[in-house]
Amino acid sequence: MEIINSKKSKLKNVDFNNLSFGTFFSDHMFMCKYSDGSWKNPKILPYGSISLDPSISSLHYGQAVFEGMKAYKDSKGKVWLFRPEENFGRMNKSSLRLNIPELPKDLFFKGLTNLLRIDSEWINPGIGNSLYIRPFIFASSPNLQAAPSKEYMFFIICCPVKSYGYEGRVDVLISEKYSRAANGGVGYAKAAGNYAAQFYPTSLAEKEGCNQIIWTDANNHEYLEEAGTMNVFFRINDTLITSPLNDRILDGVTRKSIIQLADSLKIKTEVRPIKVEEIISSHKKGELKEIFGAGTAVVICPISSFKFNDKKYEISQVKNSFADILKEKITSIQYNLIDDPFGWRFPVN
Ligand SMILES: *Cc1c(COP(=O)(O)O)cnc(C)c1O
Repeated sequence: MEIINSKKSKLKNVDFNNLSFGTFFSDHMFMCKYSDGSWKNPKILPYGSISLDPSISSLHYGQAVFEGMKAYKDSKGKVWLFRPEENFGRMNKSSLRLNIPELPKDLFFKGLTNLLRIDSEWINPGIGNSLYIRPFIFASSPNLQAAPSKEYMFFIICCPVKSYGYEGRVDVLISEKYSRAANGGVGYAKAAGNYAAQFYPTSLAEKEGCNQIIWTDANNHEYLEEAGTMNVFFRINDTLITSPLNDRILDGVTRKSIIQLADSLKIKTEVRPIKVEEIISSHKKGELKEIFGAGTAVVICPISSFKFNDKKYEISQVKNSFADILKEKITSIQYNLIDDPFGWRFPVN
């Protein structure tokens, strides 16, 4: 693999105590190309702009997929990833749906681990500090034909992030009109366009004082499916409930880790369809104890209220919340503070 080192590190320009998500990027990036039927020319080079033809099909037809993962540094300076095989597998699953050629595993892992070694100083130790990793593939043939591209580019870029414990509990709107995904569609894939389609409905929800939307099924808006760009869990009494995977649900690494972890902690979980009606009636009976979103960026994001049919339902904070217990466990595994009975940690150096 070709490696071109950056001449001057940007590291000292970065205030690690004041990071806003996704704005500062580490010194290097990984890049490789697909053409003539194979992935080739892997290289690491200084992070920076690239020149592209305005006709590349990802810009017009959205043939692009991405992943999101993090690297953590423990107190001894060792760097860890969390279940990266899951992200690799999911990226190829997304690619298949978008008719993008499969990426070889060794290319993904060599690119990722070499990049993390070169930019390891960008990972600060300490809970809450991490390096957010964004692998992505986009169609790069200069051609306006509405057909799959013949050329693609795969990149990995990284940005240091800091989470400040709980970024606060959020208010959500249960969608009665817009949908994130439909049966037979691309909802289960991390397709770039899935996010674009959420921006407008989310901006309307913000006008109603909500931070995010809980997406419901596209048929009748009857079942609760995802929260914003996260999977979603409901605690009714002492049972944790989340929707089963289907065409409309993204197979989140955090979601599946929570289900496994809850099981090992003897927290009762049910993976089954859950109706809006059910959480409203549980709320009325005082049995709806928690709702939280789950995703790599924040691990667990507690929800403080939901709005449905113009009515707002508050969820008061409970002691020893499942959200706290599960977040603490996952975080401790990620930062190598406790044993990892599941084999989720992946050493980088
Ligand atoms: C990425 C993503 C998630 C969360 O997946 P993680 O692997 O846990 O980060 C959930 N829902 C959607 C729509 C996503 O794009």
